[in-house]
Amino acid sequence: MYQDIIKFIREIYDTDNFIPLHEPRFRGNEKKYLNECIDSTFVSSVGKFVDQFEASVAKFTGSKYAVATVNGTAALHIGLLLADVKSNDEVITQPLTFVATANAISYCNAHPVFVDVDIDTMGLSPEKLKNFLEKNTSIINGKCINNSTKRIIKAVVPMHTFGLPMRIAEVVEICNSFHINVVEDAAESLGSYNDNKHTGTFGLIGTLSFNGNKTITTGGGGMLITNDRILAEQAKYITTTAKVPHPWEYHHDMTAYNYRLPNLNAALGCAQMESLPNFLKAKQKLARKYSSLFKKKEKIHFREPLAKSTSNFWLNAIELESLEKRNEFLKITNDEGVMTRPIWKLMNSLPMHSTAQCGNLDNSTYLENRIVNLPSSVI
Ligand SMILES: *Cc1c(COP(=O)(O)O)cnc(C)c1O
Repeated sequence: MYQDIIKFIREIYDTDNFIPLHEPRFRGNEKKYLNECIDSTFVSSVGKFVDQFEASVAKFTGSKYAVATVNGTAALHIGLLLADVKSNDEVITQPLTFVATANAISYCNAHPVFVDVDIDTMGLSPEKLKNFLEKNTSIINGKCINNSTKRIIKAVVPMHTFGLPMRIAEVVEICNSFHINVVEDAAESLGSYNDNKHTGTFGLIGTLSFNGNKTITTGGGGMLITNDRILAEQAKYITTTAKVPHPWEYHHDMTAYNYRLPNLNAALGCAQMESLPNFLKAKQKLARKYSSLFKKKEKIHFREPLAKSTSNFWLNAIELESLEKRNEFLKITNDEGVMTRPIWKLMNSLPMHSTAQCGNLDNSTYLENRIVNLPSSVI
């Protein structure tokens, strides 16, 4: 069983060895820029590569400003703080996401509330969000109050799962009418678009990740993107210890964070950004191959983006018939050295979020039991 799929993947990657889920590729100026960075001695918190990397990500995403951070989780943490999330506030997100999304909410001492995803995008469902807000909240003094907890719902964090763009414009519209800020977790969707607008640029703030397994990598790294100059300045300030500019004095006017991206990592990022267009082309090509393979299979469905959306196909995903089939597929492929992984467990099933308020999560549960990622490295 599934031997034809394993054979297909082995042919694509042209190897009999272990095939990982997602490996980085360093085929451009990575070593050159790293050497330059080391020779300059500016390997740490300041240097030209940080500025260059921020400028290239801003340009690529069509965002006015970009602020580099030490990782994507830190970017989310700061994004939420800038969206005015304070202790004891609530933040709505999807239960089907990587744990970092929920962690960042907890770092603010805020409470996550989980609202379901759409089956097709695997991202936060505008319909379910609207229903949840209409049924459970009241607008009092321009704030969205959760009727049952009396806490303020300050932000919504939608996420573009595996690079497939979710219905972000609809979510932003709903949030605007309920006085809620949108912090878009675009960690997985660098190079993904809705109506030719880059993911992460729809909400107040978007966040990216450059972890080793993402579409491009800086080893570890992240970025905040926004069109708001004040927010961008605040993001820079709060990620760099809130040091008041002065030629020599150490004055800091608040407890802030050391979340800056080292210049060494940014050097890698500059080279990776040059390769990004080629990575995206290669990932499109790979996705088309998978798509044509699974078109011939009745019981396995390959996940495609919505019409008018472009996916970066960060991780290719298939839907199996049932939890049993999913488990069988995972076992056979991993036993054969072809790495596959299930989608995440729902956040509300993790011990630290077991008491979180949840909407109806039928779609998330359906996907949790059926979705598997296939090897997706650039060939
Ligand atoms: C990768 C990822 C992040 C950020 O992760 P870091 O490892 O901190 O860069 C955040 N959210 C999602 C959904 C992710 O996949």
